[in-house]
Amino acid sequence: MALMFVNGESFPSKSGQTYEVKNPATGEVVDTVPKGTAEDVQAAVAAADAAFPAWRDTAPETRARLLFKGAELIREKIDELAVLETKEQGKPVAESKREIEHFLHGLEFYAGLASKIRGAYVPLPDHKMYGMVIKQPLGVCAGIVPWNFPITLMGTKVGPALAAGNTMIVKPASTTPLTAIRIIEVLNQAGLSKGVLNIVTGPGSVVGEELLRHPRVRRIAFTGETGTGKHVAECAGREMKRLTLELGGSDPMIVCDDAALDAAVTGAAVGRFYNCGQACLAIKRLYLFEAIYDQFVEKLIGKAQRLKVGNGLDKETRLGPLHTAAQRQEIEEQVADAVKRGGKVLAGGKRPEGAEYAKGFFYLPTLLAEVPDDARIVCEESFGPALPIFKVKDLDEAVARANSSIFGLGSSIWTRDLGKARAAAERLEAGNVWINSLHIGYDEMPFGGVKSSGIGREHGPEALEYYLEPKGVVVATG
Ligand code: NDP
Repeated sequence: MALMFVNGESFPSKSGQTYEVKNPATGEVVDTVPKGTAEDVQAAVAAADAAFPAWRDTAPETRARLLFKGAELIREKIDELAVLETKEQGKPVAESKREIEHFLHGLEFYAGLASKIRGAYVPLPDHKMYGMVIKQPLGVCAGIVPWNFPITLMGTKVGPALAAGNTMIVKPASTTPLTAIRIIEVLNQAGLSKGVLNIVTGPGSVVGEELLRHPRVRRIAFTGETGTGKHVAECAGREMKRLTLELGGSDPMIVCDDAALDAAVTGAAVGRFYNCGQACLAIKRLYLFEAIYDQFVEKLIGKAQRLKVGNGLDKETRLGPLHTAAQRQEIEEQVADAVKRGGKVLAGGKRPEGAEYAKGFFYLPTLLAEVPDDARIVCEESFGPALPIFKVKDLDEAVARANSSIFGLGSSIWTRDLGKARAAAERLEAGNVWINSLHIGYDEMPFGGVKSSGIGREHGPEALEYYLEPKGVVVATG
């Protein structure tokens, strides 16, 4: 049985309750984990709170060294961790490995920034006075993480929080706690003091709620659905907790008639089908200029049909199962709704057949055409391998339709005309725009949403600022 990790030690829940984590490809039990309670959270908060003053006062270089050491220890175990992640999450092992590598890159990025946190010297109107701005960590932070990228999305919180001198409690998604627990244990083995980095497993409605409520938790970093995010914002607001929200998306991709077509086709296929379409920044609406529509669609159908669907543990697999039965049901319902409203299935649109698919939540890569703009798959976030494709006459129409969503996370424009690309980048209502490039988050670049896709930024040096409070200090010299 896997255990929670609090105050430098592994623990079961005080309630003694556990639950099973199952493999979405086979239905087999991977392991059991503690079903944490409010009392377990309170113990973790007490530990993180007690650890805070010493960690805050630890030299930044020392904090950095411990994080680098932790990254090194994880790198030694990356193959074993990737297999564990695939078993609990479903994605192909190569994707799990890439995810853990991305986590390590992020951890090292923030370790490198620990000693570069700067304040300011501020001249004041009276020359006998001056001001200083010092930046201080906040205290106990909570990182609430979803199941689709359970390790990188933990890293986007743990890295900047610890580098800035905060302590942290991670709450993983109920269905993907195992790899996260192992990683927190290994990071602690690098020499973190007790209580600096903790993990409590259990339901969002209990463990998550207690983190939102607890007055000693000063900062919530949440990634998840927009609906949950709004609730998190309300609770955090009541306690004046600092907050970042990375929420849902419905990223549009616009392909102009002068685009490098093969690169754009690959961009669409990878962008929609990576992690079985379960990515916040997956391409969820594809807008093609009329002149290239037929050629593009034909190439994309070929790519979709060649993707090997299967158990993520098989080397040939490019598309694993959806993560849960509910997730598959939702995408099936969205596709059925699109078809009912006149949409045409160009590829997929159903579950794969065969004994090897019987116990997992598999669904074929799906392409749809002639879907009306009010269909669920266009208006809602679609979290699975199904992509509606639209024909547009020019950039104005493409941008207007791209912006018609309540979401505003990512977006992309594919063209050889830099003027057009710049115009689109300025006008697209999104936190991120990619020009002729895959929708990928970089640790070096700020990442986050506008509109219903969230508040604040993760990644980039910008993310550190959300884990620091600027304090103004005025000095009289006369
Ligand atoms: P959820 O909102 O259901 O869950 C996210 C996390 O919140 C889980 O750990 C969950 O715990 C926890 N949680 C649930 N209810 C509460 C509560 N009342 N109080 C506190 N915590 C709670 O999202 P999903 O796990 O389904 O993740 C998918 C979503 O995440 C998609 O919408 C996706 O777009 C978004 N996402 C956004 C990203 C971004 O950067 N903008 C990146 C990746 C994903 P439990 O599992 O126990 O329910």
